[in-house]
Amino acid sequence: MSTEPMTVSDGLTYEKLALFIDGQWKSGEGRTEQEVTNPADGSVLGRLPHASQHDLEAALAAAQKAFGEWRRTSPLERARILRRVAELARERAELIGRNITLDQGKPLAEAIAEVRVCADHAEWHAEECRRIYGRLIAPRVPGVRQSVTREPVGVVAAFTPWNFPFNQAIRKIAAALGAGCTIVLKGPEDSPSAVVALARLFDEAGCPPGCVNVVWGVPAEISDFMIRSPYVRKISFTGSVAVGKQLAAMAGAQMKRVTMELGGHTPVIVFPDADVDSAARLLVQQKFRNAGQVCVAPTRFYVHEKVYDRFVATFLGEVGRIKVGHGLDPATRMGPLAHERRLSSMRSFVDDATSSGAHVECGGERVGLTGSFFAPTVITGVPESAQLMKVEPFGPIAPITRFAEFDEVMARANGLPYGLAAAVFTGSASIAQAAATAIESGMVTINHWGLGLAETPFGGVKESGVGSEGGTETFDGYLVTKFVTELHR
Ligand code: NAD
Repeated sequence: MSTEPMTVSDGLTYEKLALFIDGQWKSGEGRTEQEVTNPADGSVLGRLPHASQHDLEAALAAAQKAFGEWRRTSPLERARILRRVAELARERAELIGRNITLDQGKPLAEAIAEVRVCADHAEWHAEECRRIYGRLIAPRVPGVRQSVTREPVGVVAAFTPWNFPFNQAIRKIAAALGAGCTIVLKGPEDSPSAVVALARLFDEAGCPPGCVNVVWGVPAEISDFMIRSPYVRKISFTGSVAVGKQLAAMAGAQMKRVTMELGGHTPVIVFPDADVDSAARLLVQQKFRNAGQVCVAPTRFYVHEKVYDRFVATFLGEVGRIKVGHGLDPATRMGPLAHERRLSSMRSFVDDATSSGAHVECGGERVGLTGSFFAPTVITGVPESAQLMKVEPFGPIAPITRFAEFDEVMARANGLPYGLAAAVFTGSASIAQAAATAIESGMVTINHWGLGLAETPFGGVKESGVGSEGGTETFDGYLVTKFVTELHR
């Protein structure tokens, strides 16, 4: 069958790709397939079957049927399965991580860490689902009992992206299952192995058939079909602002709940009293992690004019040490971009910035002729009007610019319609607090990088999204409130 695992460059096989519907793996049988390729060299890794309309109907019906039982499952049983998923994920992190490197491109150590660290999401939801509480409200009339309970919303349709294929999917599945919902998830067709592996973990951990279903296909066709389905009561999407708005509009037309984790354009503000060298070194790590394809990656650097030259010098020195290469090479610190299409996008950001008078300090070019490699790029003197300062680059380009005054830099940081994450570096507690208060952003990290932990809420404001994943907020989007008042004389 065409979806048999293929032997790839290092002699091991790649994940066997399939749909997962009602506890069954499905592939072949005349389904359309697409090639999955390695962005480091263009080699074919496997063939991914697309869901037919019949498959989508079957997945949604299975999720609806399973919901009837799963919603009544004890939180202890949900927690047991989620904990087992975490254990299995940690045991298999190396294999799952290797396949992420192959189909997504990130260095192996980053890919393995994604699986290990994100096993925490399953555990966090296992713990928190035992604390989904209701409350009693004191009555106005004797004999009346007023109770509030929180119930699972129903079948969830989820759409996850390619940049952290394991992370994004485990968060959504764990939140849905922990709340008592069931889920049909469309993962990223370009980097599908982690989602297939995850479905296997849930299956092996004892998750009943129909609770977790995985489908693949043409994204717009699948989302259109699933969001319209009367079974689906909630939509959860991580991806670009443009697509998020389309899906939220479709969901809104049918009064369905949404969680939207969308893009941002993270401002980083370095005040003159900061530890400039250690800030620059930390920011290089965070900027070029996953080749900059991170929704909270630092993307606009505002450095105070008094420390600007020193910051740029340290930053450039650190960037010069980044080795770009195939993610399976242990020396590699930055792999290829996830797709060829991202290369032309990077090139147009650079061209636009230089035509606006900015200076390319390093990089700015594709690396090599095969694979989607783009050099770590630092650009200085970028005017606020350049595309790079207005549109999330989602790649390895760092624009650095100066500021002079607190109010001026806050106005520039808040000047975009996005508000996902922001970072501040300062030695002053009062500047830190003033900045944290002034910044319009769902998350602010000060003097370190501390975003995305299972126990902390992750989400944006303004056009960067609706709702939070993680933290004690994590189930809010998956639960509905029921008020019951009863009179007993
Ligand atoms: P894109 O907008 O085409 O796709 C982003 C993701 O959304 C992909 O996983 C894609 O499969 C999915 N998608 C696209 N159209 C969809 C639809 N109609 N229904 C359901 N899912 C759909 O962009 P791209 O070229 O793949 O990625 C680049 C942009 O995406 C970046 O500029 C970045 O802003 C955004 N992005 C954000 C995140 C994030 O974590 N917030 C992750 C990946 C990509």
